[in-house]
Amino acid sequence: MAPLKILICGGGCAGPSLAFWLARVGHHVTIVERFPALRASGAQIDIRAQGIEVIKRMGLIDVVRSKLVDEVGMSMVDTHNTTKATVLANKTGKGGQTASAEYEIMRGDLVRILYDATKDNVEYIFGVTVEHFEQYEDHVEVHFSDGRTDTFDLLVGADGQGSRIRKAIMPPDAPEPYRRLGVYFSYWFVPRTEVDDNLFKVYHCPGGRAVVSRSHSPTESQAYFVFKDDSEETRSLFRAPIEQQKEYLEQKFRGAGWQTDRFIEGMKTTDNFYCQEIVQVRTDTWYKNRVVLLGDAGYCPSPLSAMGTTASFVGAYVLAGEINRNSEDLPQAFANYEKALRPFVDELQNINLKLVLGLGLPQTQLAISILQAAVWLFCFLRIPQLIHKYTSDDVGDWKLPDYSDVRQNQ
Ligand SMILES: Cc1cc2nc3c(=O)[nH]c(=O)nc-3n(C[C@H](O)[C@H](O)[C@H](O)COP(=O)(O)OP(=O)(O)OC[C@H]3O[C@@H](n4cnc5c(N)ncnc54)[C@H](O)[C@@H]3O)c2cc1C
Repeated sequence: MAPLKILICGGGCAGPSLAFWLARVGHHVTIVERFPALRASGAQIDIRAQGIEVIKRMGLIDVVRSKLVDEVGMSMVDTHNTTKATVLANKTGKGGQTASAEYEIMRGDLVRILYDATKDNVEYIFGVTVEHFEQYEDHVEVHFSDGRTDTFDLLVGADGQGSRIRKAIMPPDAPEPYRRLGVYFSYWFVPRTEVDDNLFKVYHCPGGRAVVSRSHSPTESQAYFVFKDDSEETRSLFRAPIEQQKEYLEQKFRGAGWQTDRFIEGMKTTDNFYCQEIVQVRTDTWYKNRVVLLGDAGYCPSPLSAMGTTASFVGAYVLAGEINRNSEDLPQAFANYEKALRPFVDELQNINLKLVLGLGLPQTQLAISILQAAVWLFCFLRIPQLIHKYTSDDVGDWKLPDYSDVRQNQ
């Protein structure tokens, strides 16, 4: 197999995972990342289901384990921090998982692990993006934001949910790729206090709002505000400067009870503020000739699914496997990748998130009390333990393919 010259746009989780497999079998891989340095930020993310098996096959499971967040489960609390129900995490290494997964890790730690595992045989270029590109029969000509032009055998768009590579390959009349769920999710870091422990705590307040805390270090906790809003006005606000977004959140949550006011004070001074509308990315196809999409760029299942990182690891493994098997016929490789992975992604995306959100973000205090009682009963009946014991965490009956040719140099 002749080595290919490959450009990956985006140095998050998906891009470096793909680079890991491709560089390992001798391809020449370059990653361009728009951010001026390794973008090792973000809050807590999960690795679940078939994604764990991919990490095992990468040989990174021990280093990932060494960085896991110490979180024992999820609790619903009231304004006095009294626990209404607790669903413990399943840390046994097998069986179904619940809201707090066995593999909970800070996004920054995972990004650093992937960078360390690839930096010696992958070229990283920070602070640069793909301005535009042209496809020819046997190569892609790429024009970079720093004025350079170069040619590659293929270009991978791993540039996240707002992917510019996706926009460039979709036909002009393609339907809008975002499935909007009418929910926003914001987070930032606050100094840890004695109220924060190793539980993922959820406090519901009327009006379809929730305040969440998770603690990932002895000194810091993550604060999250989640709320329903489907208006165009709010949508445009979240493209406005961060200070306006913070003002909006303060107005929406001030006085809502529990730790809300403390979190609002923390929001004013944090360096880690992040807010986004929760969307899924759905497109009819993930490639065009020699350009292919990977991870959130092609099929973001939404942060609420807790499966975005898993999908990016599984997608990278399948794409690398198919590129290696069909390195002389890349459109065929991409068609196989899509055919193999689409059922997995469909399964992830077809969860009725609107229904889940309807139940999980109640509008009234009565509905909140009913939700808390239902979760308490769920725990009292030991249903989480039955889930751990009698179900699998895998997505449907989809089987991770065996690309032993990709793994030959392991
Ligand atoms: C800063 C940040 C924080 C996040 N925090 C969370 C979180 O707290 N919880 C959660 O569930 N998910 C979070 N995510 C999303 C999560 O990382 C992904 O859903 C998942 O890991 C899939 O990874 P991905 O590589 O496909 O996308 P991403 O992780 O989004 O990575 C995409 C990468 O591409 C880069 N990029 C974007 N546009 C361009 C461009 N034009 N040129 C070059 N590079 C570009 C981005 O800077 C980023 O590094 C976050 C993503 C980012 C970027």
